[in-house]
Amino acid sequence: MLSRLSRTAVATRYCTSPRLPLPARCVQTRWSPHEHKLHRSISISSPSWYALNTAARKGLEEDEPGSDAVPAEEPRDVGVQQQEAEHAVISAFDLFSIGVGPSSSHTVGPMRAGKIFINDLVDLGLLEKVKTVKITLYGSLAATGKGHHTPQAILLGLEGSDPETIDTGTIPSRYQDILETKHLTLGGRHRIAYDQDNDMVWRWDQVLKTHPNGMRFSVFGEDGDLLATNEYFSVGGGFVVNEKTKADENLFYKGVDKSAVHGARLHQTHSLSEPPQEGAPQQMDLCQPPYPFVSGESLLALTRNHNMTIAQIVYDNELHFGYSHEEIHDKLMKIWSVMDDCIRMGVSSSETKLPGRLQLRRRAPILYRRLMRGFYPGLVSPVLPAIGGGLPPSGHISAPEGEMMSDGLPAGKVQGKSVSATRPTHVVGSLEHPVLPVPPRKTNIPAMDFLSCYAIAVNEVNASGGRIVTSPTNGAAGVIPAVLKYIVEFVSDDPEKSVVTFLLTAAAIGMLFKRGSTISAAEGGCQAEVGVACSMASAGFAACMGADPETVLQAAEIGIEHNLGLTCDPIDGLVQVPCIERNSLGAVKAVTAAQLSMASQNVYSVTLDEAIEAMRLTAADMSVKYKETSLSGLARTVRIPLTVPAC
Ligand code: SF4
Repeated sequence: MLSRLSRTAVATRYCTSPRLPLPARCVQTRWSPHEHKLHRSISISSPSWYALNTAARKGLEEDEPGSDAVPAEEPRDVGVQQQEAEHAVISAFDLFSIGVGPSSSHTVGPMRAGKIFINDLVDLGLLEKVKTVKITLYGSLAATGKGHHTPQAILLGLEGSDPETIDTGTIPSRYQDILETKHLTLGGRHRIAYDQDNDMVWRWDQVLKTHPNGMRFSVFGEDGDLLATNEYFSVGGGFVVNEKTKADENLFYKGVDKSAVHGARLHQTHSLSEPPQEGAPQQMDLCQPPYPFVSGESLLALTRNHNMTIAQIVYDNELHFGYSHEEIHDKLMKIWSVMDDCIRMGVSSSETKLPGRLQLRRRAPILYRRLMRGFYPGLVSPVLPAIGGGLPPSGHISAPEGEMMSDGLPAGKVQGKSVSATRPTHVVGSLEHPVLPVPPRKTNIPAMDFLSCYAIAVNEVNASGGRIVTSPTNGAAGVIPAVLKYIVEFVSDDPEKSVVTFLLTAAAIGMLFKRGSTISAAEGGCQAEVGVACSMASAGFAACMGADPETVLQAAEIGIEHNLGLTCDPIDGLVQVPCIERNSLGAVKAVTAAQLSMASQNVYSVTLDEAIEAMRLTAADMSVKYKETSLSGLARTVRIPLTVPAC
C-alpha cells in the first residue's frame, strides 16, 4: 500500500504532466480527466474569466491547477517582504473588526474571500450561469483549516454571509445542511450542487507563491466551462488580498464593498513612495491622511512636531477617512461593547467543554467564580446576566466547578443546602524529611488573576466560534480586551476616555507591525499574533496611564521583544492549546511591559522599530512547521485523547 506521501507524489505527477494518463478522478484536485481537459481548452476559448485574476488563470492554463504553487517547505519567507515606501496608516476600524471565531486568517478572511468572489460574479453577470464550484486550499489553510473552521467559513461566505453580521449560532447547522443536502446557495439566491469530498481540495503540501494562506475558487458553467477563477490570500487579521492587490493590500481588506471606501484606505503606496525632489514645489496629496507615518520614529516625530498624543494622531487620520466625531466615538464604543460582551459570555457560559477532539474544559467560569468569592454578587455586578444559566442566581456564588467536598459532592451544594467549601488538606511528600513538603494553598494576585480570567474568557468564546473582535487577530483576541477591561474596571476614572485612548493607541502600534512585519501566524508564528497583541495592549495601557509617546512606544517595544520567536503549533489545528492560556500570559505580560517602561524614565537600548525589524527577520527564518501548520512543537508532542472518534 502506498504511504500518504507517496500517493500524493503519484497524484501530483498525474496532474502536472499531460502525457501521463490521468486517473479516474485526481486524488489531489478531485477533478476528472474531462475537467482537466476543459481547463486547458478554456484558457484559450473563454475570455470571461480573465476578468478576475491572472495568477489563478495562469495556474489553470498550466495542466495542474496548483502549478503556481510551490512545495510547502520551500518558501520560508513567503509574504514577509520589507516595505520601504508605504506609510503604515490604515483605519483603526480595519485593524479592529467584529468577526467570528476561531481564527481571523483561517475563518474570517476565508469567509470574506468567499463573499468577495461571489460579489464579483454578480458584478460580472456570471452568478446565474454557475453550475459547480471548486475550492482549493493551500499551505496552512489546508493544514489547519479543519480545526479553524475554514470550510464552513468559505461556504457560508459563498452563500453571501459576512463575518460581522452572521448569526454565529447558525453556523454549525447551516454547514451541516450544505454537507447533507449536497447543495450550496451562492450569494443566498443561486442554488448549485456541491459535494465537499469532490469540490474542496486540500493542498497541504503546497503553498501559492504570494502567501502561505492561499485559496483558489473556480466556477464552471453548464458544459463544464470555466466561468471564473480567482486566488485569495488571507494575510492575517481578517485582511484578504489577491494577486492584483498584494502590493497594495488594503484593496480587498475588511469590507467587501470597495466602492464605499475612502481612497486613502485603499492605497498605501501614494504617500512616500516618491519623495519630492529638493526645491520642487510640495503638493499635498488629497488622498493621503494628514499624519502618515512609516515607523515608530516617524510617529514619535509627529507627536512632537504637532504636540499630539498617539491616539490624537490616529483620531485625526480617522476623521480624514470620512468618519465624523460621532461615528468614531460610536464605532469605538461598539468595539468595546462587543469585547465586553465576549468576556461576559465567556465567564458566564454554561457549557463545560469546548468543541473539538481535545474536549478541553472551559475554565473562564471557574476562574471568575473564584475571583468573585467573598463579594456580594448583587452589589458587585448588578447587571450581569446569566447567559445560558451559567451563573447562579443573585445572592449565591457556588464553589468553583471541580472543587469537591470530601464526600465527593460539589462544595456549596450539599443536599440542596449552601455550605462553605471545606476540604481536607492533602499534603504531598514525606513529613519525616529535613525538607518539609509545602501544604497546598491558593493565592489570589488580583491583577494577574483578573487579566488571565478575562483573556481566557474571550479565547474560549473564540474557540467555540462565537462573536469576537479581531484584535488584531482572533487567536490573539483575548489580550487587548483583557487589559482594557482591567483598566475600565479597576483603574480608570473616565472609562469612555480610556476606551478611546487605549484602542486608538493600540491601533497605531498594530499598523506599524502590519507595515513593518506581519500580523499573520502563517507568516511569522505566534509572535505575529499574541506577540503583536501584547505589544499593542502594552502601549494602550501606558497611554491610559498618561505616559508620554516615547514611553508608550517603549512599552510596545518591551511587549514584543519578549515574544520574539514565539511559535505557532496549535494542537490538532484547534485555536485552543496553547492559544487560550497564551492570551492570558500575553495580557499579564502587556501590563508588566507597560509598568517597566513607565518605571524606566525613557532609558532603553532597543527601539520599537528595531524590535519590529527583528520580528520580521525572525519570521523569515522560522521553519514553516511553526507557522500555523500544526506540523511540529506541541502539535506533535501532545497526544490527542483517543476516547473521541477521529472524524
Ligand atoms: S499558537 Fe498563537 S498564532 Fe497559533 S493559532 Fe494559537 S494563538 Fe494563533
